Amino acid sequence: MGSDIGFEYMNEDSINHSLKCSICNQPFVHPVSTNCKKKHKFCRHCIEQWLKHNSSCPTCRRNLNSEDLISITEDIVVDVLNELRVKCIRCGKTDLERGDFNNHLKNSCLSAIVSCPAQDIKCLWTGHPNQLSSHLKHCTYQSLRPLIVSLFNENHQLKQHVTQLTSHIKEYQDDMKQLKEQLNQQATKIEGQSNEIIQLKNLWKQNGNQAVSVRNALMRGSQVATVVSQSQLANNYLPAV
Ligand SMILES: [Zn+2]
Ligand SMILES: [Zn+2]
Ligand SMILES: [Zn+2]
Ligand SMILES: [Zn+2]
Repeated sequence: MGSDIGFEYMNEDSINHSLKCSICNQPFVHPVSTNCKKKHKFCRHCIEQWLKHNSSCPTCRRNLNSEDLISITEDIVVDVLNELRVKCIRCGKTDLERGDFNNHLKNSCLSAIVSCPAQDIKCLWTGHPNQLSSHLKHCTYQSLRPLIVSLFNENHQLKQHVTQLTSHIKEYQDDMKQLKEQLNQQATKIEGQSNEIIQLKNLWKQNGNQAVSVRNALMRGSQVATVVSQSQLANNYLPAV
């Protein structure tokens, strides 16, 4: 466990057995207690991993699930664990307090790599913590921070503006699409109406033709009638034989 996070315990054999987890055999990290009769204790990480595949205490086999785990927060235990002496695997520094190890990594470990505080405005410098102060004397980003920050803000505002404009354009495009659809509908309607008009015209024409032929028929009829009546008249005046 210790080596994963960059340190090893000094005089590990001399560490009291009651401070060690029976799963990883290392001093507790975030210790928890179970509700077993003997309140067995483990690192939280170790017992949670165990309970993923088991449902009993690894020491006494009593039923156990992760809701039964209680964090141990008593100062006396936490302090003793924090004060355990460790050695940094990266830089070899000894006699560090375990509770202070993260601090050591961040601020004083010679093998640790830190970033420039101007990383947020794109300074890509990284280096050992003890080189940082000399970098900062020459860091252009840090010295131009106010200017760079204002440029960043301006850029951000422009981006927002572009986003707004894009959404307006999208709205206009949607409106145009709707208008086009309406136009298409109207055009279809007009086409239907002009077809109707053509049909009506044809009907009108046919009716006109029929009227002409009726009139012609009538005229022929009246001519026949005239001829008939003339011949009757002639008959009336014929001398009797
Ligand atoms: Zn453990
Ligand atoms: Zn137990
Ligand atoms: Zn170190
Ligand atoms: Zn820098």
